[in-house]
Amino acid sequence: MIGNKIYAFAKKLWPINRSLTGTDNRLTLKLMKKVCKNLKIKEIKTGTKVFDWKIPDEWWIKEAWIKDSNGKKILDFKKNNLHVIGYSSPVNKTISLSELKKNLYCLPKQPTAIPYVTSYYSRKWGFCASYNFKKKLRKGNYKIFINSKHFRGGLSYGEIIIPGKTIKEIFLSTYICHPSLANDNLSGIAVTTFLAKWLNEINKKLYFSYRIIFIPETIGSIAYLSKNLKKMKSNIIAGLNVSCVGDDRAFSYLPSRDSNTLADKVAKHVLKWTSPNYIKYTWLDRGSDEKHYCAPKIDLPIASIMRTKYAKYPEYHTSLDNLNTVVSAKGLNGGYEIIKKALLAFENSFSPVATTYCVPHLGRRGLYPTTSTKDSYLKARLITNYLTFADGSNFLIDIAEKCNVPIWDLYPITEKLLEHKLIVKKY
Ligand code: ZN
Repeated sequence: MIGNKIYAFAKKLWPINRSLTGTDNRLTLKLMKKVCKNLKIKEIKTGTKVFDWKIPDEWWIKEAWIKDSNGKKILDFKKNNLHVIGYSSPVNKTISLSELKKNLYCLPKQPTAIPYVTSYYSRKWGFCASYNFKKKLRKGNYKIFINSKHFRGGLSYGEIIIPGKTIKEIFLSTYICHPSLANDNLSGIAVTTFLAKWLNEINKKLYFSYRIIFIPETIGSIAYLSKNLKKMKSNIIAGLNVSCVGDDRAFSYLPSRDSNTLADKVAKHVLKWTSPNYIKYTWLDRGSDEKHYCAPKIDLPIASIMRTKYAKYPEYHTSLDNLNTVVSAKGLNGGYEIIKKALLAFENSFSPVATTYCVPHLGRRGLYPTTSTKDSYLKARLITNYLTFADGSNFLIDIAEKCNVPIWDLYPITEKLLEHKLIVKKY
């Protein structure tokens, strides 16, 4: 089960303090590069204008803690990198309990959870802790220390381009900005890295080219689009935003804005045939980079296949979203396998065109029983159904829908029909 390898890789990346920018994002990308050597690590400088946004300052953090009046360290960033709000400003002072409480985030309804809080675009300092921790705090003075800084640096992202026989592309995007949070979205990073590895292994056979990117959510996808829009608009035929693919509770689908693109068609088909009880969201439930990929003027054919969707599980954006309780090797395996099925369906985006007039003589080619009995036609029914729709106007996915079978049942038939020159592929 490849899920075990993906899980082990996720474990390696777990403690790294990812954010919008910074050394730890570069470290994450370097570890991914060990799995996929063709991953290119790229940078966009602070201050670069990207559409309506600007690349922010880089953030660096080394140390953060709270000490009580006895000098005892009662909270330490080293123990959990959710303890400091993302992009926190530096601070070094002694404060009262009430001032500490104003800058301490917790979740009374989930008393054991440390929340994930960020403040990327307005400078502030702050800590995050469990509600149980907050309740235990007694009146007195607290020494607080955050050793962090903001400076003009860059935003790092990863890009893998796998050239196929055509410049037309399949696109995968996942986000690398969340620190130690498992389903959202360490699962996306780990699963996408292993999907890229698999595509690299079969690259000689690929018809389409593949563009796979690892960016911080929102600012990263906007920046990437601003640099590559023209190429992406003319080449991408379908793609997926890979998010929350590591738990084993559900499968779900979030459409593109158009909701009727090839990506949508394939996502629904693959889910229908593997987990018919999957949850269907609408465009109104969007929340990740599909917002940008499908925005007006961009309008790329990008949908999402997820396990349990962000914001739809109780552990979401808290320390409870971890590799012990939420994400499992089995969950990651399911996420990987379903997206692999979707990629194979994209890869088979061609229309078969029958080469003969009338129905071909299949028996002569060993594709039909030569003894005609009452039900002999049933034995070759899928081939004849396939051929009857092979008029060049149906993609293979449409034929699968019309024949009421999963598209992967048509792959071996395609091979046979090509071998006997009974169809040609039209792209
Ligand atoms: Zn998130």
